[in-house]
Amino acid sequence: MPRTVRRVLLLNPPGARRYLRDVYCSHSSKGTYLYHPMDLLAQAALLAPRFELRFIDAIAEGLTPDTTRERIVAAAPDAIVFLSGAVSHAEDLAFLAGLKRTDPELVLVGMGDVFLWEAERFLAAHPWIDGALPDFVSAALGPALEARTARGVIGLDPFARGAGKGFAYGAPPYDLLPMERYRLPFGRPEAFGSLLTSFGCPFHCTYCNTAEMPYRLRELDGVFDELAYLRARGIRKIYVRDPTFALNPRYTRALLDRLIEEHWDLSWNCFVRADRVDEALLERMKRAGCYLVMFGIETASDALNARSRKDLAQADVRAGVAAAKRVGLEVLGTFVLGMPGETRRTAEETIDLARELDLDYASFNVATPRLGSQLRDQLALGSVLTAGTRGLDGSNEIPDLPDEVLSPEEVWRLRNRAVWSFYGRPRYLARRASQALKDGGLWIGARNALTLFGSALG
Ligand code: SF4
Repeated sequence: MPRTVRRVLLLNPPGARRYLRDVYCSHSSKGTYLYHPMDLLAQAALLAPRFELRFIDAIAEGLTPDTTRERIVAAAPDAIVFLSGAVSHAEDLAFLAGLKRTDPELVLVGMGDVFLWEAERFLAAHPWIDGALPDFVSAALGPALEARTARGVIGLDPFARGAGKGFAYGAPPYDLLPMERYRLPFGRPEAFGSLLTSFGCPFHCTYCNTAEMPYRLRELDGVFDELAYLRARGIRKIYVRDPTFALNPRYTRALLDRLIEEHWDLSWNCFVRADRVDEALLERMKRAGCYLVMFGIETASDALNARSRKDLAQADVRAGVAAAKRVGLEVLGTFVLGMPGETRRTAEETIDLARELDLDYASFNVATPRLGSQLRDQLALGSVLTAGTRGLDGSNEIPDLPDEVLSPEEVWRLRNRAVWSFYGRPRYLARRASQALKDGGLWIGARNALTLFGSALG
């Protein structure tokens, strides 16, 4: 019988890179930016009423495995809820196995992409892990820890019938986190909150593992509890972590109306789809405090967008970006190079498009056979336990898609060229430097730029 659990530690394990393992999308930071581990944050909110909580984010604090171990021993937890990811699972589990050897009664529960798509396999391969929590907004873990039944797969996975159309949690205990360590890639360095209002996505993009995950909305009361908690601590900057914001018009209207009518005076950014916003909505978002929208543009090629089932025409991208700029929002575009069928010509067109749209920021990634994605299934790569992690970090690693027109090295060179071509423009650099001087973000901007340019050498 496992021991009684009173003290729970939420752990983002140490790592060789600055891993971002949350929201089922494990990769690493391209710059100095780092976000709160969303999965652990949501569980902290759900577990706080029942347990004495501790929180160690070894990535944010830059802790070594030894220092992390010392901190864990000092915290003396009865259970550890830890985050792992496809890109880092070998490192993560070697570290966790050491903890279990020292304290065999310690209850260990894993979260992250490998504990959704490969939960059974990982538990079988590592029988010393007590349980897996596939759905990071599930309320099932607290009762299971209390009843000492936190074994095997806990709760339903987010794809399961009955997983529900909504989810609820209140204000996460941000005070437990090293808030000064989290950074957005843009703007001046200041503490911010990571807010989730929805999760899942009804679209079908083959490279995205959130595709077809049932779209669920968070109860608005919890959203406003979290905003009130942050406001009480002087935090008004919010990163809305929804995979795609504003997909449900009624919910979006209720949220925006309340933000406007109650004068929340926030400053937030979010991802939107260019074909699901119009000028009226963007204008309303701006009035509610939105300052930056992020569009998943991916490629300039309509044919590649159709093939990858993004189903987003370039005309919609241009219209969405133009509308956002007209209402005075900053715009970030994300791009993926090396998708199946990519040629040098389509890649060059994408690089040109990024410049032509006059975006404020651009993020260039390489196609990745992400765990849980249709692309991974099409390539029949199988489990990361056997296939390994090569090519899984689309932010910082040379891609590894077999049988493509462009070699992995060519795709990586094109990605690097895209970074230099976009960020290396003298006029762009001058504009950013002048903006950073105004808003106080010059140092963080310069560090991000140096890290990004450094990663794009070669
Ligand atoms: S890339 Fe965006 S639109 Fe496509 S499935 Fe993922 S979250 Fe949805």
